[in-house]
Amino acid sequence: MKLSIVVPVLNEEPNLSLLYERLQRVATASADDYEIIFVNDGSTDGSLAAMGRLHERDPRVKCISLSRNFGHQIASTAGLDRASGDAVVLIDADLQDPPEVIAEMVARWRSGAAVVYARRRVRHDESFLKKATAHLFYRLLNRISDVDIPLDTGDFRLIDRRVVQVLRRCRENPRFLRGLVAWAGFRQDAVHYDRAGRHAGQSKYRVGKMFNLAWAAACSFSVVPLQLGFWFGSAAILLSLLLGVVLIVQRFCGVPVEGSSLLACALFLLGGVQLVTLGIASRYVGYILQTVQNRPLYVVESQRGWDDVTEDAATDVTRQPESSQVTAR
Ligand code: UDP
Ligand code: MG
Repeated sequence: MKLSIVVPVLNEEPNLSLLYERLQRVATASADDYEIIFVNDGSTDGSLAAMGRLHERDPRVKCISLSRNFGHQIASTAGLDRASGDAVVLIDADLQDPPEVIAEMVARWRSGAAVVYARRRVRHDESFLKKATAHLFYRLLNRISDVDIPLDTGDFRLIDRRVVQVLRRCRENPRFLRGLVAWAGFRQDAVHYDRAGRHAGQSKYRVGKMFNLAWAAACSFSVVPLQLGFWFGSAAILLSLLLGVVLIVQRFCGVPVEGSSLLACALFLLGGVQLVTLGIASRYVGYILQTVQNRPLYVVESQRGWDDVTEDAATDVTRQPESSQVTAR
C-alpha cells in the first residue's frame, strides 16, 4: 500500500523538519511505501529551501512550488493532482493536526472506509471568536446545503484514490474541498483527535480569508442565500401591510400620526434589503464569471521529485484533469 501525504505550505519554515520527522515515522509504520508532497503556496520565508533540503535527504519527499499564493484549498488541490498513493492524507504544516492520527486513519481505510476525516474534540490555542464562528457556520451550512458536511472537521483527512479521482474531475473555483469530499460519497468514517496549538508561526487564515472560505462553501453547496431576497421581500411586504393597518386604526381613533419618520424607516429597511440581496446575488455572479473564464486553478513554477512530468505538462494537468474512471480499489 502506498500512502501519499499532501502538505500545503505558506511560510512554515520552522515547522517543516519536525513535521517531516513525525510524518515519516508514522508513514513508515503504516504503509509499505509513501511520498510526502509539500506544496509551496507562495512562501516568502525559507520554506522552499527547507523543502528542497528534505527532498535531497529523502527522495520520497517531493515539492511543488506555485508561482504565487493561490490559497490553501488550491494548494491542497495541486498536491492531490500529483499524488500517486492508494490513499492520500491532507494535513496542515503547522503540526496542529498530529501526524500520529494518520495510523488510525490508515487502519480505518484498511477496514473499508473510503474517506476518514479527523473530527476535533478540543481546539487548543484558538480564539473564542474563531471557535464560536466556526461552530455556528458549519451548523448553518449543513442546514442550507444538500450535502452532509461533517461537523467540527477541517481538511485533515485520508482520502481513497477513487475519491481523489473524483476530486480531480471537479475543477470548480472557488473550492471547498471538505464539501467536495462529502459530495463524492462512498463510505466516510471519523476518527477523533485533540487539535493542538501551532508549533511555530501564526495562522495564515485571517478574517478576510475565513470570510472568503465561508462564502465559497455557502455558494458552492447551496442556493438558499440566493433565495433570501424572496424571504426578506416577503417579510418587508408583510411589515408594510401591518404598518398600514396600524396607521388606519390610529386615524380612526383620532390619534395624530407622524408619517414622514415611519416612511423614512420603511425606505431604509427596503433599501437595505435590496442591497443585501443584490450583494449575495453578485457573489454568485462573480463565481460564475470565474467559472466561465476557465483559467487553470494554479500555475506551477517548479517541482522536484517527478522525473517524468515536465513543468508544462504539470500545469496542463490543471486544464485537462486526468480523464479518470472511477475504479474499484
Ligand atoms: N496555507 C496555504 N496557503 C494559504 C494559507 C494557508 O498553503 O494561503 C497553509 C498553511 O501553511 C497551513 C495550512 O494551510 O499548512 C492551514 O493554515 P493555517 O494553519 O494558517 O490555518 P488555521 O489552522 O489557522 O485555520
Ligand atoms: Mg493551523
